[in-house]
Amino acid sequence: MSLDLIVRNAALPDGRAGLDIACEGGRITAIEAGITAEAARVIDAGGRLVSPPFIDCHFHMDATLSLGLPRLNKSGTLLEGIGLWGELKPLLTHEAVAERALRYCDLAVAQGLLAIRTHVDVCDDRLLAVEALLDVRERIAPYIDLQLVAFPQDGYYRSPNAAKNLDRALDLGVDVVGGIPHFERTMADGAASVAALCEIAEKRGLMVDMHCDESDDPLSRHIETLAAETTRLGLQGRVAGSHLTSMHSMDNYYVSKLLPLIAEADIQVIANPLINIVLQGRHDTYPKRRGQTRIPEMR
Ligand SMILES: [Zn+2]
Repeated sequence: MSLDLIVRNAALPDGRAGLDIACEGGRITAIEAGITAEAARVIDAGGRLVSPPFIDCHFHMDATLSLGLPRLNKSGTLLEGIGLWGELKPLLTHEAVAERALRYCDLAVAQGLLAIRTHVDVCDDRLLAVEALLDVRERIAPYIDLQLVAFPQDGYYRSPNAAKNLDRALDLGVDVVGGIPHFERTMADGAASVAALCEIAEKRGLMVDMHCDESDDPLSRHIETLAAETTRLGLQGRVAGSHLTSMHSMDNYYVSKLLPLIAEADIQVIANPLINIVLQGRHDTYPKRRGQTRIPEMR
């Protein structure tokens, strides 16, 4: 029997060593010592570590490598960051977005990152970043699985054409439905946006990944609506809540009701600690809240 690939003399993350890994049809078919089969390609790992690739489940590739464009963030807050992105958006070109993204993908793959979920802003009527990243998704397909989320950065209801543009982006082939309920004008608009976006995902058979409650406001409870809508529409296992930082500041009794709703809906949580450790608590004096979501309790 001839295999596609054998990696010989590999050490595994669980501590086992001196093993051969056989691959056929793009899948690992055996992990054993001394596999005798021939293979079209043989890699000698020389006893070094062989591990699964890293996965980045929350990225904004349309904004990658843009530090200082068009100027630096003086306050360090998320709100100034969103404002800065609004200043940069009209200046973007297809080529510049694709070039920065491709440059980033080279850096990523060199670090062992082989799957990336990136949000892409759909509030620009030109959908320039969407089209650029769809190009990038195709060009890097041989080495990175890139998943795109249609992200209404300026608010699904708050930004005039966001709803229409989000549909257009999904029609173009964007993979996942995004949202930003805490950025809508009111709590009621935020909750309505969660329901509307989950219904779009249900109708189109897509996944959902929402920027949700990225706030220090303990009353930002859109994750509750996201869990309820996920259960109502039968989207269990297809929905992710990104950030959920308001949970850090929530009343403990309320969280004891909320966690079972998140579990019931089988919602995945993406915590983004590197970002939120520096973004949260910006309006605090002392002590300053870290603002991480409640990972140990969720586990
Ligand atoms: Zn984000």
